[in-house]
Amino acid sequence: MELKEYWSDNYHSRDFKLIRIGVVAVRFRWLVTLLIIGIAGWIAVDWWVLDPAHFKLLWKVRLITSVMLTPLLPLSYLCKLNRRWMVLSLFALLGILLLFNLVSLWSFRDGVPIPVGYIAFPYFLLALLAVLPLPVRSGLRAAVVVIVAILATDYWLDSRTLDNGELIDRVWLLLCFSLSMIWVQAGQLRMLLDLYRESTRDPLTRLMNRRLFMRQLEDTRRHSRREQPYTLILFDLDKFKRINDEHGHLMGDEVLVSVSTTIMDIFGKDATVARYGGEEFIVLLPETELEQGVRQAETLRLAVESQPVENPLDESEVMVTLSAGVVAGHKDSDLEALLNQADEALYEAKSQGRNCVVAHR
Ligand code: GH3
Ligand code: MG
Ligand code: MG
Repeated sequence: MELKEYWSDNYHSRDFKLIRIGVVAVRFRWLVTLLIIGIAGWIAVDWWVLDPAHFKLLWKVRLITSVMLTPLLPLSYLCKLNRRWMVLSLFALLGILLLFNLVSLWSFRDGVPIPVGYIAFPYFLLALLAVLPLPVRSGLRAAVVVIVAILATDYWLDSRTLDNGELIDRVWLLLCFSLSMIWVQAGQLRMLLDLYRESTRDPLTRLMNRRLFMRQLEDTRRHSRREQPYTLILFDLDKFKRINDEHGHLMGDEVLVSVSTTIMDIFGKDATVARYGGEEFIVLLPETELEQGVRQAETLRLAVESQPVENPLDESEVMVTLSAGVVAGHKDSDLEALLNQADEALYEAKSQGRNCVVAHR
């Protein structure tokens, strides 16, 4: 995982962003549920430890806070759909909890000793936020909001100044908790990204697998412009079984890795490249006409044909060729039918004697 991927979700794929937001939404819902129950449930503890006049005020504050948190539960379902809803929900949660902190501390302003639960609340809040797999930039933003709000509350209630040792203790503790929160959040983000990559990448070639490719294809179809087609190229290695039989499976694997590298070199970052099956690869070229797709498939065919793969065991060379079926799709295309047409074109290329490109028209 690269450092920039820890920093911001701008460096994550659209597919992973959606998956991460889904996880954050579920955890956020659990967090809100826990807080609603916990904040209201703590009324019993307050009843035990606070004097009756104080309790009379604080039980209402707690109940109102729990009620204010409740709309965040349905909102968390919208978070799954849109990142903006998630940011809004998170800041609404922080706002409500920081307001609760302000009002409850204000109620202790006349020199009444503050119970430890109320002193610890901001740290408890930072610790709870650690359950969300957020990138460092988002974690930092949340931490800054909490720290500034807590210090502003302290200042407003106590008029403390910066040389006050108590204030320095407070800042130091808040920073320690914030760093721990960001550390744990980044660790969770890493675990999620690792799991995502394991489940969407082919272990041999490191290309994306068919499952992720189908999601990307659907995404491209949905976001394509009506007048602009996209092109699919389905490749299959010729007589690959013979390479396995004559040179062994290890050499077969070597050929698959070598061909996948050539595909990536030729199509680069603009295309979506996947291992579609055993010795089949698929390339999706967004905003590409059929003829242009055929030319690119031909370029790859020639490149593979002219680059024999070296056997690492005996340094002998194996000639590899491939056949391709090309098809263009539109915004309204049925993807299953489109893939069938690519398959038919590929079958036609095999019938024409292999090592050639056929387009479905
Ligand atoms: P055609 O030109 O008609 O495509 O013939 P072919 O031999 O390539 O086709 P066939 O489908 O008969 O054989 C595909 C072979 O690919 C069979 C399978 O053992 C092999 N294969 C599939 N996945 C892998 C893999 O990951 N590694 C290796 N070494 N072989 C694989
Ligand atoms: Mg095949
Ligand atoms: Mg084959």
